[in-house]
Amino acid sequence: MPTHNPEESIFNQLEAYGHKKVVFCSDPDTGLKAIIAIHDTTLGPALGGTRMWAYKTEGDALRDVLRLSKSMTYKSAIAGLNLGGGKAVIIGDSHKDKTEALLRKFGRFIKNLNGEFITAEDVGTNPRDMEYIRMETQHVTGVPESIGGSGDPAPIAALGVYMGMKACVKELFGNDHLTGRSVIVQGIGHVGEHLVKLLRDENVKVYASDIDEDRLGQIAKKFGAEAISNNSIFDIDADIYAPCALGATINTHTISKLKCAIIAGSANNQLEDETIHGQMLLEKGILFAPDYVINAGGIINCYSELMGFGKKRTMQLTENIYEATRNVLKLSKAELISTTEAANKIAEKRIADIKKVKSTY
Ligand code: NAD
Repeated sequence: MPTHNPEESIFNQLEAYGHKKVVFCSDPDTGLKAIIAIHDTTLGPALGGTRMWAYKTEGDALRDVLRLSKSMTYKSAIAGLNLGGGKAVIIGDSHKDKTEALLRKFGRFIKNLNGEFITAEDVGTNPRDMEYIRMETQHVTGVPESIGGSGDPAPIAALGVYMGMKACVKELFGNDHLTGRSVIVQGIGHVGEHLVKLLRDENVKVYASDIDEDRLGQIAKKFGAEAISNNSIFDIDADIYAPCALGATINTHTISKLKCAIIAGSANNQLEDETIHGQMLLEKGILFAPDYVINAGGIINCYSELMGFGKKRTMQLTENIYEATRNVLKLSKAELISTTEAANKIAEKRIADIKKVKSTY
């Protein structure tokens, strides 16, 4: 039955986001309800994590998978990887509904896509889950190191953020030394901890915050960072603000308070509204390193696993984030556009260029 509400029309949404293919996976025997979204495969197979989440409605799950898969296309394109963008969501509570059978059934749906989609872990899934999927298909990365995987991507993700920060410092201060600078790290989980270490190794003054107070105390003590409360983040006068917890921390309210010169962190979707808040930061003169450019270390780690690259090559690819960020900042400056708009333009150009290569003999 066609729907009369364009907001709810599946095909209108697919058209708006520009998706190539969306697969609905249903298996009443295992309770599997999942959606695999393949946004673009111009550069290579669509790679993206599988998120397991108890979405309130199926519409919420669809919107999330469409939005996330599109951003994977851009992330891989700008990182220079030969990968397209995709993502999957499994509807359910990862603590209660996840079983071996459900994950293996999901693996069979991925198998049927014949390599057009490759998955990895995400919110609500872990390396053990990827092992179950691997029992049914080869098209999965992020399996444990013990069975040939690339292991924890967090140190690589942190390295990418650190390289992006250096590129921003170079843009503003003429050299990329972080020594003597100050950074607020919001969220010192897997990525945040590694970032704090890299910064402290370079004698950066680090202010750290986390809602987990025990962890905050331990990490601050271990690396000599100053623990601060989450409420005081926007009152501190530091050079760089690094959001490494949740998305949407940059919004109209926080931008009016921000005192830093640079924002560079690992969290996905840091701007509450990409267009409005990207423009506000531009006008306020705060340099924003687009999150998907500098947090690409995670996907680089998956790509390396697929390609059979060693640690050295993975580190080199991640260090390229410095140059990628420089290019974004240069374009933003030259065209007086927000850094996010500049990043989107560079990603779209690479895809369009490679499309031309593929359409010729
Ligand atoms: P994580 O869950 O290990 O760490 C997040 C930390 O943030 C936790 O310690 C949590 O207590 C803290 N936190 C939550 N809400 C907070 C708040 N309001 N204020 C302060 N701290 C808060 O996650 P992670 O793997 O370190 O990832 C961090 C961010 O980076 C996420 O947005 C993730 O999507 C993104 N990211 C992660 C990777 C990766 O490889 N892990 C790669 C790319 C992007």
